[in-house]
Amino acid sequence: MNSQTPILDHFQRPLRDLRLSVTDKCNFRCPYCMPKEVFGDEHKFSPKSEILSFEEIIRLCGIFVAGGVEKIRVTGGEPLIRKDITELIAVLSRLDGLKDLSLTTNGWLLAEKVEDLRRAGLKRITVSLDSLDNEVFGRMNGQGHGVGRVLEGIEAARRAGLSPIKINVVIRRGENLKSILDIAEHFRGTGIIPRYIEFMDVGTRNDWNMSQVVPSAEVVETIAARWPLEPLVPNYSGEVASRYRYADGQGEIGVISSISSPFCRSCTRARLTTSGQLVKCLFAPGGTSLRDMLRAGADDKEILRAITDLWTGRQDRYSEERTSNTPLKERPKIEMYQVGG
Ligand code: SAM
Ligand code: SF4
Ligand code: SF4
Repeated sequence: MNSQTPILDHFQRPLRDLRLSVTDKCNFRCPYCMPKEVFGDEHKFSPKSEILSFEEIIRLCGIFVAGGVEKIRVTGGEPLIRKDITELIAVLSRLDGLKDLSLTTNGWLLAEKVEDLRRAGLKRITVSLDSLDNEVFGRMNGQGHGVGRVLEGIEAARRAGLSPIKINVVIRRGENLKSILDIAEHFRGTGIIPRYIEFMDVGTRNDWNMSQVVPSAEVVETIAARWPLEPLVPNYSGEVASRYRYADGQGEIGVISSISSPFCRSCTRARLTTSGQLVKCLFAPGGTSLRDMLRAGADDKEILRAITDLWTGRQDRYSEERTSNTPLKERPKIEMYQVGG
């Protein structure tokens, strides 16, 4: 059961969400996340002995939920390449006190796994898709993969009854501006919700540059010029995406403005890496190993105490600091594929 009093950080932000990275490996090489030149065939990902076992993940998630976490998002790397992922979903979906379980995937293995995921208790899903143009998409996934298989995965998720289905679209100037309208048009009227994400300076390897960031305001203007939009109230306080609905009733879109309009003030997200580090911010230099405590024999109370102490001292607000001092290149940062989105 959740604790009655939430654990609050230095700025009174409760610990409510957990992003759980179940693998640091991926079958894509998106240049903004795991550029091929850096993560080539020789790259060594975490060895099995270092990554959390399912038993360890489940125990830690139970402790987080006892500490007030209500939502868990399973991510990675690519979560669907972790062996037996559906078994983990089956246990997490029954975790007492957990109100929401979701998963973010690149969609490549979705068509073949979605029915098992649904049976395991997954109710909703987010699929990343940056373009409907095979050539552009091939560049943006770094593997030359076409769009068809991801669209089949999305369709399979719809047939399986997962809802809502959200589509993460990272827009990068000079690369996929055309995706703004293409993706809006494709999903209008389907109930599937595109969410346009500003290209972020996560990690240290993606050559981030402000000139490639397309501010959300531009995305909204572009879509609204074609199909008028009306702002929607957030579904809940601290929602990351700002939502808009089509005035003609054909559905909604969201924009995630981490660069142009940071939302650190309401950030309630902790992250657990594949190797069991608790990370307090997407842009943190690193985290604290809960795995080591676990493997040294700490009991649940001791681990909850450690989580509480870490969260209570949390002062992270990178995106707000970045806007006033752009970019914070000199800072060491954990990589996106290690902490998940
Ligand atoms: N592999 C899965 C996927 O791509 O959906 C899950 C992990 S991925 C790190 C989670 C999300 O982070 C994806 O939607 C991806 O597009 C987004 N992402 C990765 N690097 C990013 C960046 N530099 N800026 C903005 N979003 C990014
Ligand atoms: Fe893989 Fe997702 Fe990163 Fe792309 S964004 S490289 S699919 S982990
Ligand atoms: Fe949260 Fe850090 Fe992102 Fe701010 S920069 S919203 S604190 S993860």
